Amino acid sequence: MGELFALERLTYRFENYERLLESLLADGFTFTDYSGLERDQIVLRHDVDLSPAAALEMAQLEARLGVQSTYCFLLTTPVYNLLETEHVRTLRDIEALGHDVALHFNTHHYWDDRPSADDLTAQVCAECDVFAQLLGHPVDTVSFHRPPEWVLGVDFDEFVNTYSPEFFTRTRYTSDSNQKWRLEPPFPGGRPDHLQLLVHPGLWGEDERPLEEIVDELASDCRDHVERYVEALGV
Ligand SMILES: [Zn+2]
Repeated sequence: MGELFALERLTYRFENYERLLESLLADGFTFTDYSGLERDQIVLRHDVDLSPAAALEMAQLEARLGVQSTYCFLLTTPVYNLLETEHVRTLRDIEALGHDVALHFNTHHYWDDRPSADDLTAQVCAECDVFAQLLGHPVDTVSFHRPPEWVLGVDFDEFVNTYSPEFFTRTRYTSDSNQKWRLEPPFPGGRPDHLQLLVHPGLWGEDERPLEEIVDELASDCRDHVERYVEALGV
């Protein structure tokens, strides 16, 4: 068992993320996609809630180590518009590095309560179609943003749910949500046989920054973006 699994806490610097991946490789894990998960494999997922730019930086870091992962992007967030040219380029760059691009789907954008299975499937597939248009090939892997309990441990016929039993209930599932590894061990249960690891690129950076600072900067970037748009209108 590698030292990683005895780690008490971790700061959210890219340098530490690199060390974390190196430790997993040294411990005999290989990285895979959502086509299947076997012993000594990790399916590494990134939900891009905040920053496509941080996602690209993380993707480059992983590619240098030969690590493959899946980047899930939102179409329904106010903090980035995936249809903008620079973000479409980011999606393609991430794929060119050998990673997968998938849909991060926000049920809360559409429904307060559980929708019918048909409504859910129709809306998820509609967003997958947008990805297919942007990337030129079908996309059928879906991670749910702030997942409601009715998607956890559920298989869907029309798409691959990252919270399906294979990747969620029948394997170890670990996430870096809310920078919680700053305070608690990332792998409290020791070395798992296989693992789904969720890492949010926007929580990491060159330097350690608390969540509040990251969110403030994001809000300021969004404001600049809106101001440039309004200026171009000449109002
Ligand atoms: Zn999310």
